[in-house]
Amino acid sequence: MKIAEVHTHLLDHPLDVAFESASTRFKSRQHILVEIVCDDGTIGWGECLGPAVPNAVMVQTYAQHLIGRNPLETEVLWQELYNQFRDQGQRGLTITALSGIDVALWDIKGKYFNAPISVLLGGRVRETVQAYATGAFRREGVDRVTDTAEECARHVADGFQAVKIKIGFGVEEDLAVIKAVRQAIGPDTRLMIDANHGYSVLEAIEAGTRAAEFGVDWFEEPVIPEQLDAYCTVRANQPIPVAGGETWHGRFAFREPIETDCVDILQPDLCGTGGFTEMRRIADMAALRGVRVVPHVWGTAIQIAASLQFVSAQLPDPPRRDPIAPIFEFDRTPNPFRQAVITQPLEAKDGIMQIPDGPGLGIEVNREALKDYAFTPSFGSVS
Ligand code: CA
Repeated sequence: MKIAEVHTHLLDHPLDVAFESASTRFKSRQHILVEIVCDDGTIGWGECLGPAVPNAVMVQTYAQHLIGRNPLETEVLWQELYNQFRDQGQRGLTITALSGIDVALWDIKGKYFNAPISVLLGGRVRETVQAYATGAFRREGVDRVTDTAEECARHVADGFQAVKIKIGFGVEEDLAVIKAVRQAIGPDTRLMIDANHGYSVLEAIEAGTRAAEFGVDWFEEPVIPEQLDAYCTVRANQPIPVAGGETWHGRFAFREPIETDCVDILQPDLCGTGGFTEMRRIADMAALRGVRVVPHVWGTAIQIAASLQFVSAQLPDPPRRDPIAPIFEFDRTPNPFRQAVITQPLEAKDGIMQIPDGPGLGIEVNREALKDYAFTPSFGSVS
């Protein structure tokens, strides 16, 4: 079996109402899928975290090195592709693009061996996982406190037992939101807060100190991800466990956060940090120091399916009789093609997600949806 073709599928849908985190404003949803076709007709699917067009350029740049190669040699191919851009691309888009390719190669590997990727990773520790609802971004034209509280109440009504909300817009307003959300979801629903690196160190310490009384599971991306010392300062000076890692790409980027204990919970993104090949290494590195790994998930059903495969094979942590159950990030923000890209949607029922057990990613892609949401980038002048 040899790799014959590499395709990128760019998807876009403008949103009726824009939403924003502390760092990004979303006017549309854009994602990029990677399709690798082998000479025997086997097809693998992957997805890259981050901006669609530059990721597509990088995937196509890598593609010339893939044609004619054995897709099962994931470790060899990962290293060769990484070597192409070591000098200029140790982090960022070079790794996110490589991630989409690696996921597609593992999908092919699973189909070749007629096994789900989770089995190839070592085995299915679990068939289901509890999902937490990710959403509660700031939206235009509405009162943020009541809007966020109402949204979180809907997630609980839909069966979710855990929700994550966006903060990082200002401590006083954020505290009002956290308080209102806790009232709306009741005392038993787990609550996480995500600043999307919007705070200064002092703001983060104040926000975490004052938010703790509302029962917060973790405080995600309190400060910018380049400032690991600041992460450590925040972790040491407020009581909520600190989470982060969605913008750290590749094992070398994870070494220092792990070795300096700057987070309690590490959140590598499978489709951003190097695919299954690199994610395994990062999880092993985290396990050396007892850092919990809760993958970041933000994409279409391809990324969700890939992350579910990884979580299925995550070993119990700690390895006791009743270990801490994993929890799975499940995006609830508007995205009409998130589930449309596959034929059998991956949904949460009563807050629980079933992990597909078919070969590879265990999903089937709906090519009609790829056509419906396709967009073609234009290059040249901007005005
Ligand atoms: Ca986040």
